[in-house]
Amino acid sequence: MDSDDTIAAIATALAPGEGSVAIVRISGPEAETIGRHLFHPPGEQPWGSHRVLYGHVVDPVSAERLDEALLLLMKAPRSFTREDVVELHCHGGLIAVRRVLELVLRSGARLARPGEFSQRAFLNGRLDLTRAEAISDLITARSRRAAQLAVAGLDGGLQRRISALRDRLLDQLAELEARVDFEEDLPPLDPAALVAELEAVQQALRRLVEEASHGRLLREGLKVAIIGRPNVGKSSLLNALSRSERAIVTDLPGTTRDLVESELVLQGVPLTLLDTAGIRPTDDLVERLGIERSHRALASADAVLLLVDLSEGWTEADAALAGQLPAEVPVLVVGNKADRAVAATPAQVDVVISALTGSGLEALAEALLGRCGLSLGPGLEVALNARQCDLVAAAAESLGGSLAAAAEDLPWDFWTIDLRQAARSLGEITGEEVNEAVLDRVFSRFCIGK
Ligand code: GDP
Repeated sequence: MDSDDTIAAIATALAPGEGSVAIVRISGPEAETIGRHLFHPPGEQPWGSHRVLYGHVVDPVSAERLDEALLLLMKAPRSFTREDVVELHCHGGLIAVRRVLELVLRSGARLARPGEFSQRAFLNGRLDLTRAEAISDLITARSRRAAQLAVAGLDGGLQRRISALRDRLLDQLAELEARVDFEEDLPPLDPAALVAELEAVQQALRRLVEEASHGRLLREGLKVAIIGRPNVGKSSLLNALSRSERAIVTDLPGTTRDLVESELVLQGVPLTLLDTAGIRPTDDLVERLGIERSHRALASADAVLLLVDLSEGWTEADAALAGQLPAEVPVLVVGNKADRAVAATPAQVDVVISALTGSGLEALAEALLGRCGLSLGPGLEVALNARQCDLVAAAAESLGGSLAAAAEDLPWDFWTIDLRQAARSLGEITGEEVNEAVLDRVFSRFCIGK
């Protein structure tokens, strides 16, 4: 890793449209020199760390003023990367800030790779890996809850939990390794106590994996299919959800558009509503293709809302539709048109709403999240991303190997192999044990300038 050079990037969002401020961030040994080379403060403003200077970015060759800007110098180690950092706060808009960046690059910096600032912060001991990843998660959070979880990660909640479990494994490993070498000189180990401790850690790891799948739903959102007979009110529900105060319709560039009908955030949880308009038997080939698509959508859904019309009750067609649903996907039966309900609510119906008046939408959201095993209250404290989740699962599995060695009464060194591997997997989460390839993979998911 080459971190004795100086890197630069635009740190603020480049799309869509314009913001009022755009920041060029420079980090590395040449940061201050580059700043002094192209930033001209009028008068006698002193260059001090953590002070803001006002002035102009001037091309030293052509003497052209590229922008009016503020410059913030943060000397090492009191900066995000623990290197010398200069930030140029320029006017928003793409052209000026790009020209400033080009000038910075011509003056001796090189363009930062995605996540390279955070990578340096990690390598210089400013952040552990879970916090660095939480920053990236916060930036890409699609909902209030996902953002809250990312902030919890930023506070080190995940790092503390993982480190504590890893420490417990390392304690046991130390005892075991000592026995491998100096069995006679040490008091005997109680295998039962050792097994109990390893099992307790394994349980805690499994709990984390379980929580992680909830975290994934919050992070990536629930994929929900709304199905129902024609005219039960599917589009009306979609519209009502999109209009309701708590739902913000989002338009995310770069997400898969195939099958996606609408993206919205419901009570802090992102929802992707899948287009399943064509679910009914047909001979028409074109339509059948549509139906296959819809079935695929259904199979990939986290939940299905089966909408029925309360003014007609539970009909045979509703029952037929319900019978076609994949058994593994949770289904919530939603009675719509409560304002026109004629009889008692059919027993099959889980929630009653009116897409027309908007009544019952909040209960619908709650029931939907409940059906997916999510609750709106607190409870979930940390969220694992896919990388972290895989490592926790791997650690739990390695512990299984140690426990198997214990069950077969094998010598101590058979226990230690898997135990060491489990500790290593946990160390890869926090970054205490990690190699360059892993780091590159982690940080390349970050956005440029972070
Ligand atoms: P879809 O075919 O399932 O998408 O059904 P639509 O959303 O197009 O609705 C069919 C008809 O039912 C429209 O005339 C809607 O205005 C009406 N409708 C939908 N929801 C309600 C409701 O909650 N109450 C009443 N009274 N009418 C509704």
